[in-house]
Amino acid sequence: MDEMLKISNVNKIYKVNKNENFQALHNISVSFSSGELVSIVGESGSGKSTLMNLIGGLDSDFTGDIIVSGENLRKLTDKELDKYRKDKVGFVFQSFNLISHLSILDNVTLALTLSNVSEKEKVERATNILKLVGLESQLKKKPTQLSGGQKQRVAIARALINNPDIIIADEPTGSLDTSTTMQILKILKEIADSGKLVIMVTHSEKVASVSSRVVEIADGRIVSDHKNENYKKDSDKTFKEVKKKEKKLKQNLSYWSAIKLSFHNMWASKTKNFLMAFGVAIGIGSLLLMMCFSSGITDFITSTMKSYSDPTIVTVSKSMDYGDMFTGGGIEIPLFDAEGEEIGQIVEGINAYLTENGFDESELITDKNLSPGFNMMTFPGILTAHIEYDLDGDGIISDEEKLSITYLYTTPPYYTETNLVEGEMSTSEGGIMLTPSIYNFFGEENPVGKSVKVVINFDGTEFTIGNEIDSTESKITGIMDTSVFSSMPIIYIDYDFFMSKFTEYSKKPAQPTTYYIKTQSEEVSSAINRYISTLEGYTGSIEEGLASMFQSMADTIGTSLVILSAISLFVSAIMILVVMYMSVSERTKEIGVLKSIGARKKDIHRIFSSESFLVGLLSGLCGLAVAGFLMLVIYIILINLVGIAPLSFRWYYPFIALGVSVVISILSGLYPASKAARLDPVESLRRE
Ligand code: ADP
Ligand code: MG
Repeated sequence: MDEMLKISNVNKIYKVNKNENFQALHNISVSFSSGELVSIVGESGSGKSTLMNLIGGLDSDFTGDIIVSGENLRKLTDKELDKYRKDKVGFVFQSFNLISHLSILDNVTLALTLSNVSEKEKVERATNILKLVGLESQLKKKPTQLSGGQKQRVAIARALINNPDIIIADEPTGSLDTSTTMQILKILKEIADSGKLVIMVTHSEKVASVSSRVVEIADGRIVSDHKNENYKKDSDKTFKEVKKKEKKLKQNLSYWSAIKLSFHNMWASKTKNFLMAFGVAIGIGSLLLMMCFSSGITDFITSTMKSYSDPTIVTVSKSMDYGDMFTGGGIEIPLFDAEGEEIGQIVEGINAYLTENGFDESELITDKNLSPGFNMMTFPGILTAHIEYDLDGDGIISDEEKLSITYLYTTPPYYTETNLVEGEMSTSEGGIMLTPSIYNFFGEENPVGKSVKVVINFDGTEFTIGNEIDSTESKITGIMDTSVFSSMPIIYIDYDFFMSKFTEYSKKPAQPTTYYIKTQSEEVSSAINRYISTLEGYTGSIEEGLASMFQSMADTIGTSLVILSAISLFVSAIMILVVMYMSVSERTKEIGVLKSIGARKKDIHRIFSSESFLVGLLSGLCGLAVAGFLMLVIYIILINLVGIAPLSFRWYYPFIALGVSVVISILSGLYPASKAARLDPVESLRRE
């Protein structure tokens, strides 16, 4: 008789706590052969299950030797033990331990799924085995729809699917009534008679009497071992048909199968998962909304800039140096030198830069491309300006008839007719333009065509333009709206006119604060702008400066909003972690079952990670819906309230949002997944 299973001198000691041990098995030595139907009997707590777990390879912490077909279990690596459980043994439990969210078919084929067997072969083999246990018509049902006896037959089919050599059944009939018990026993006997070793633990005399051998254990020791002389081997060869395909089952649980398994599980608790996904979706949705809002503001600023700027004109201004202001040193208006040496050097630098960057000689800058300008924010003690107009016609200018000007501008060449709200551009002497804020000052009257007195105090010289009322020298020719500036009182004067007035009053030559450079194309302009931004002491146009100030304000707001949504995403991550963690404890038994049929740590990890991946995907998709809805609401509100809604959508935003959602979910699922993977199978199966 071949000894398929040889146990010699096995001792098992449990650690109860730090100082206390409990020896559950004492020097067990026993051998079993294929074709035997063994009953292990004994009082509760005598060590039967402990022995079964050792034989089944669920517990490898023992002394002595357990040799199965020449392989010593104690010497197997974790990986080899996984394989041993998958291919050599099948477990049947008292409480069936079927996975409730999987169909009968999926429960039976689980071990094959872990080996990445094809769908077709899985169904074929499972149908075959379920036929043998009399359940071929129940494939699609869920375990809860079956009776106890049927469930145990499913469990037997699951144990048989990989055609193991040994079936271990720990009290397989403990939860069944007498007639069902006999049916199950009959099946187990047929399996043994087909040439497998069946070891079952039982309390029932009647069950024991049917088996070929009865081994009794008391207090962890074998106290008797009887062969049943009357045992009659059936020649019924039904279970002989269970054949393992010769193909080596080396493959592992595929990602796709892991996702399918997780999907079944998530579907089983859809409400919980949907609520969680919705929570995460709010974070993802607000992130998406913030991105659209940020780029909306950027787009708004850019398009505003574009609308009044000629992109082929580059501005280079001397920047204001406020360095001495607070130490009482005062500040000066930074001016270019009168000789043009300074701008000459800048142009040289620009041309060198352009050449370096592969621009044509024809695209380089010459004197012909330059025009001077003067523009300055008003500042008490340096430059102030106001306009006066006798609104009530009493010949006296009262305080209400003076309007302080924020910016003094010589009309830049990049201003175009498109920015004109009313009237015409003033390009020559005598005309001035103002921003729409002037409408308030004039009340009901139309400012265009009115002659006002402009008083400018610059560099210690006060000079006025338009001394006499009704003089033609300071007629408002038009209203200029450049969006960024529309609410500020700004005056635009022709450069030559402004300079001639200044020299007339101060008797000394005036110099520009700014040069405008006309380029051949937008590309040249942006190259020059890049160059200027590297120069110290010079800046681009005031509009650009303001726009970049608005932009950085918008960026700050955008960043804060993104940080806020990041916080909500962090909360989401913790929520996912908690839910996944709870899911691990809920499914402890299932993890034990998976391990008993040979699932490796990696497989378990993969199943739980797939679940967090699905949560992430679902949350991301819900997030898109949430964002879409919020965006619509905000758009409608803003359009109705302020007339503009700075929300810009980029095609890749949804992908970013989905990506963030999936990454966050997977990251927060890592800990629960590794916790699941590390669960001790014996403990998880013991769990009620
Ligand atoms: P049986 O299956 O025969 O009822 P078990 O094999 O489950 O008995 O348990 C045998 C003995 O080992 C019992 O006294 C039990 O309390 C003890 N035992 C089982 N598992 C543990 C454990 N993890 N830690 C400590 N003692 C254990
Ligand atoms: Mg037990």
